[in-house]
Amino acid sequence: MTPGILFDFRMVPVALAAQRHGRLAGLAVALPVGIYRYSLGGVGAIPSLIQMVVVTWFAAPSGIWLHLPTKQGLPLNRVPGLALRLFALANVALFVSFALTNAPWTTAVSAYIALTVLSAVGMLLGHIAVQTRLTNLARTQHYQGLAFTDALTGAYNRRQFEADLKTALPSTHLLLLDLDHFKRVNDTYGHDMGDQVLQTFVIVAQRCVRPSDRLYRLGGEEFGVLLPVCPPDILNNVAERIRAQVERSLAAEAGLSGGALTVSGGLALMGDDVMARADEKLYLAKAQGRNRIESDLLLDK
Ligand code: GH3
Ligand code: MG
Ligand code: MG
Repeated sequence: MTPGILFDFRMVPVALAAQRHGRLAGLAVALPVGIYRYSLGGVGAIPSLIQMVVVTWFAAPSGIWLHLPTKQGLPLNRVPGLALRLFALANVALFVSFALTNAPWTTAVSAYIALTVLSAVGMLLGHIAVQTRLTNLARTQHYQGLAFTDALTGAYNRRQFEADLKTALPSTHLLLLDLDHFKRVNDTYGHDMGDQVLQTFVIVAQRCVRPSDRLYRLGGEEFGVLLPVCPPDILNNVAERIRAQVERSLAAEAGLSGGALTVSGGLALMGDDVMARADEKLYLAKAQGRNRIESDLLLDK
């Protein structure tokens, strides 16, 4: 504007950060900006630091020092009012700078009005940009969730399974699970009860695995579990625990009055044709009477 006084919008990001995340966040943004401004020097350097502190203080919701989780920012219609009040207050420091340069007061007043209005517009645009970005991120996250999970059971779906299979560590094991005589459930109790059993199966199976083990619905009544870094004895336990839990509680938890529901499984170590090898073991488990886990590993059973 005049030597030593800069016309810029450095207070806008400070205000946006403080408004969304509190005073500490505003100060964190103000710090590098302030150091840079101070290094440029001039009569406006100190007043502009004061401006930044004022902006940080009054942009933050009252009493909030740090508020990290933000989805919903300030409603759009409240931003212009806040921004105008904020910069009208902070820019009073501009008069100090101009007084130090002996510039005519008319210059100071017009600079004050211009900077206040333009900073407020900047804050409004910045707010819209951030809000739009956050909304898009949330939407992407939501659609990603839909694209990679099974709508009925909430387990991961086949798409996620295939993606995970490609990046699985060589020490990962695949457990394929298939509910036994599931067709009978549908035939006897109806398709809705069949759905209910599938949903309950996922709940029961999830209880038996570690948070790092992922459960996938691969289709119909067939499921997969990827078990990364699992020692053979524990592996055996996990597979057996799922089988036993299903036998013990799946029917009752799903609200079936009849006999027990069971599951068969095939276990294989990652490597070439892991799906075919696990499937072969699953087929063997079915052939040997169901309600059992077969494995291509040498496990103590
Ligand atoms: P096995 O012990 O040999 O696996 O016999 P099974 O009856 O479980 O196997 P089969 O492949 O003959 O039947 C699978 C049944 O699963 C047939 C199909 O109607 C049913 N099914 C597949 N998807 C769904 C679903 O989303 N909901 C319901 N309710 N049933 C499903
Ligand atoms: Mg089946
Ligand atoms: Mg099947």
